[in-house]
Amino acid sequence: MHSHGTAVIVGASLSGLMTALTLSRIGMRVTLLERSDDTGRTGAALHAPDGLIERITGLPSAQIPQPIAPGIQTWFAVHGALRAAIEADPAIELRQNTAVRSVQQDGSQAWAVTSSGERVSGDLLVGADGHRSVVRRRVAPDKPDATFAGYVIWIGIADESSIGSTRWPRDVAFLGDFDNTLLGYPLPGIDGSSAVGSRRLGWAWYDASRNDLLRSSGAVEGNVVRHSLMPAGIPNTTYRELARQARNLFPTPWSDAILDSIERRAVIGTPIAEYVPDQLVRGRMALVGDAAHVPTPMTGSGFSESLQDAEALAAAVAVQPARSGIETALHDYEGARLRSARSLVQSGQGFSRSFAARAA
Ligand SMILES: Cc1cc2nc3c(=O)[nH]c(=O)nc-3n(C[C@H](O)[C@H](O)[C@H](O)COP(=O)(O)OP(=O)(O)OC[C@H]3O[C@@H](n4cnc5c(N)ncnc54)[C@H](O)[C@@H]3O)c2cc1C
Repeated sequence: MHSHGTAVIVGASLSGLMTALTLSRIGMRVTLLERSDDTGRTGAALHAPDGLIERITGLPSAQIPQPIAPGIQTWFAVHGALRAAIEADPAIELRQNTAVRSVQQDGSQAWAVTSSGERVSGDLLVGADGHRSVVRRRVAPDKPDATFAGYVIWIGIADESSIGSTRWPRDVAFLGDFDNTLLGYPLPGIDGSSAVGSRRLGWAWYDASRNDLLRSSGAVEGNVVRHSLMPAGIPNTTYRELARQARNLFPTPWSDAILDSIERRAVIGTPIAEYVPDQLVRGRMALVGDAAHVPTPMTGSGFSESLQDAEALAAAVAVQPARSGIETALHDYEGARLRSARSLVQSGQGFSRSFAARAA
């Protein structure tokens, strides 16, 4: 059944999982290398298209291990449904706690070297390793890093049942003043319920006034984003200031959702990076998702663009001869995706520049 060769994918978050499924569908045997073990994962909310898992795997609904409802979903719900599909696919091997240190290629293979020194080879190597991609350093050595966009997004999720408001939102809300933009979005409850009062409220607060904290904590170094601020790494003084600002700036129930998240210390600060790609492939290596293009979340399109990468890559590989046709396939993949990837990131840069400039 698996006659289309082998692929190694670095990174098993949403892009890596989707690409594994689309490549398996065309007959590739896939090894996914993921440095994390799924604990401490973070994520905001995404728009899941109708029949997402069916679309990627080609399976009928009855055979989908964990279906996902269309609409705005938490990162965790989408990740969980993709993981279940991966586990049900015998052509995909997922190796967690496996960090990739470097990648290489020659005329017939590409390979990843893990931090334990193991070499994992394939006919094709895909970088799905996010905004600080190791694979990008090899694909685009002249432009290896995404650059800090000049602001952080604080994100959290609160249960409506813990907030006890009498006014519930029906839809996504954009709120705030000149310097603070808040995106609020109702999400299904943990049990999938969309009944008002039993849902969750997700929020993303754009803040360009705390770049000193990002730098002093090492989250941003120079022009490069190193890591997010996890709940325990956010100083208590910052939590207190955020709580005071939230009360003043945002109406109920969004301010209540923020205060509830702060009280539980369930807030993550993600410094935003951006990357406009000049290339997506080199030889037998290709980039997908945030490794390929990093837009501001304000575009709301990072996930759908990653889905298109996964589909376009498999479509390009499928029509070429197995193994010998990989480089031609990747050239075609880049032709299909580069323009769209560039314009996605550029579409958000106007917002980023003016938002960051307000705090300067
Ligand atoms: C705050 C925030 C809000 C967002 N909101 C939206 C939204 O509303 N709508 C939308 O469409 N998109 C949104 N996005 C973007 C969206 O989440 C991503 O575009 C999408 O999830 C694809 O991510 P990815 O899988 O390419 O990368 P990541 O999620 O960054 O995954 C990269 C994976 O690679 C692994 N990895 C990294 N380096 C290595 C290594 N050396 N070895 C092994 N593994 C490695 C990491 O552990 C991780 O699992 C948002 C992003 C952020 C940060």
